[in-house]
Amino acid sequence: MTNVALVTGGSRGIGRAIARKLGQQGYDVAINYRRSRQAAEELADELRRAGCNAAAFGADMAESGEVNAMFHAIETTLGPVGTLINNAGIAPPSGLFQDADDESWNRTFAVNVGGMRGAIRRALPHMLHEKRGSIVNISSIWGLRGASCETVYAATKSAVIGLTRSLALELAPSNIRVNAVAPGCIETDMLRSLGPETLADLAAQTPLGRLGMPEDVAAAAAFLAGDEAAFITGQILTVDGGFTG
Ligand code: NDP
Repeated sequence: MTNVALVTGGSRGIGRAIARKLGQQGYDVAINYRRSRQAAEELADELRRAGCNAAAFGADMAESGEVNAMFHAIETTLGPVGTLINNAGIAPPSGLFQDADDESWNRTFAVNVGGMRGAIRRALPHMLHEKRGSIVNISSIWGLRGASCETVYAATKSAVIGLTRSLALELAPSNIRVNAVAPGCIETDMLRSLGPETLADLAAQTPLGRLGMPEDVAAAAAFLAGDEAAFITGQILTVDGGFTG
């Protein structure tokens, strides 16, 4: 039986590593991108060359019409989604809570939380019909512990934790598991935007003495997504090199 995995924001960073890992594990992989079409197509090519069924699909996850059209295209090309990795996310520039404008606040919620809601709502009918499915949401340690000057980002990532735990309870009778990964400081474009000094500080503050790599998160996400985690649901797996102790 084929298992189609959709990785939102699979074009770069953590999502790219997750898509690659799932491809290596034998899933058929739908790679969602918004802006980075070329990078997503290149990854799909790489996976196909390695014998995996993979394709890239564009959609702004904050736009429900685009999400619907993307799901339709995935169903036509690869088949219905049985494994959903909600990874697409944005982090607005750091700043004081009272300086965040409505646009930034609303857009961050629309992508980081609304995008997950849209994808889950679209994936669920098939999963409920099959009484089988697995959803992994990417949260953040900042959603667990809070972060000064990152209020909106941290609030969206806390919302992801509430969504994960609540949906896990709601969907467990239908044999659909919902878990989350809470990464720490992972070396991607998102983190690199903070500048080299901050990156060095964050690495120094991490007990394991380095920044995480996208592959560190991909291993955890793939574990939670797959059958080895068949009795695990509603969990938030922290992948942070000991940062949150
Ligand atoms: P990057 O900025 O490196 O990559 C973000 C990815 O999300 C890109 O593939 C981008 O696609 C996609 N994306 C952004 N907005 C949208 C959108 N509206 N619709 C579809 N895709 C979108 O980030 P990371 O890889 O670092 O982050 C991935 C996830 O991990 C995020 O949810 C982030 O919050 C979370 N995270 C990251 C941490 C870190 O330290 N890096 C720590 C904790 C959590 P494209 O380029 O095609 O537009």
